[in-house]
Formats: sequence, C-alpha cells, structure tokens
Amino acid sequence: RPQIGVLALQGDVREHARVLTDLGADVRPVRRPEDLAAVSGLVLPGGESSVIDKLARAFDMREPLQAAIAEGMPVLGTCAGLILLADRLVDGIAGQQTFGGLDVTVRRNAFGGQTESFETELDVPAVGEPPVRATFIRAPVVDDVGPSAEVIARLPDGTVVGVRQGRLIGLSFHPELDDETRFHALLLASVGDA
Ligand code: GLN
Repeated sequence: RPQIGVLALQGDVREHARVLTDLGADVRPVRRPEDLAAVSGLVLPGGESSVIDKLARAFDMREPLQAAIAEGMPVLGTCAGLILLADRLVDGIAGQQTFGGLDVTVRRNAFGGQTESFETELDVPAVGEPPVRATFIRAPVVDDVGPSAEVIARLPDGTVVGVRQGRLIGLSFHPELDDETRFHALLLASVGDA
C-alpha cells in the first residue's frame, strides 16, 4: 500500500486522510522531516496558507518540503495547499512565503466579500464524468499560468481553479469536503508511476 502523507501543521488534515484511506492508502500525518522521508506522496491541505507557511518554517519543514517537491514527489494541494505550491503569490500577508513548484501566480482570497464561499459544478476532463462538485471557501485563484503548468479546471467565466505540472496538482477548491476522490486517485496514480 502506498504511504501517503498529509502535511499536518494546520488545516483540514482529517478530511484528506479519510479520502486517502478510502482509496487504500496508508496515511501518515507529516509534521517533521522524518515523517516526510517515510512517504512517497503528499497532500497539502486547505486551511490558512500563511499559518502553514509560518509553522513549516518554525518546524524546519520548509527546506525538506521544497527538496521533496524538487525531487519529484507527487503532491496534491487544495486551496491553502494550492497557494503553498505556487511559485508566485499575490495578496499574501506580509512576509508570506510559498514552497513553490507550480509555475503559476496565485491570488489569495480572490473572491472576497459576499461570495467568499460557494459551490459549483466543474467539468474537469482530467477526471472525466460526472462533473466535479467544487466547494470554494475563501479560495485563491490562479491569475497567471506559466509555460510549465497546465490548466485542468476553470470556472465558467474562465478563471483558472485547477492546475497540474508533472506530479503536482493544485486546486482552488476542496474535493476532500465533497466526497470527491478522483483528484486523490490522480495523486496515487502518480505515486505508482514514480
Ligand atoms: N484563504 C486561505 C489562505 O489564504 C485558504 C482558504 C482555504 O484553504 N479554504 O490560505
């Protein structure tokens, strides 16, 4: 069984762990470098990216995470996790850093105001039918996609809300909150190929 980590510094770790367990993975919360060394794939959960960033630095996890990403570890990031995977961040809090890996510019809390949270259905060819039920909670969007990254999901107005680059997947929304297992299955598939 694949050993999959969920970065467990802050955020909706348990929901991701449940999806991964349902898919047959062995799930390990990742808080320390030795936890990361024991897994062959990783989820960066939803939560608050600035807090996860701070805790990652405080726990000496920033460099190990960047090294794992650079070495090709498959990673799925949802919402705050997408922010953490972005090479470039707009509207971060002062001093906020990302781990990087995805050649994109992400804008934090992009929906603001009364539409902060909403649900919609998205057609995502990478996961096929049926459409994806997607929940957006103070969600980021992808403002700019560099040449190395590929768009996998858009809102009807064209806003980019899902990207893939090699073994990295970043989503603005939360499949783990909607019993949507197909993105985690893509993660497990890349672990199998790695
Ligand atoms: N707004 C949060 C952030 O900046 C992300 C919200 C979420 O993960 N649901 O990290």
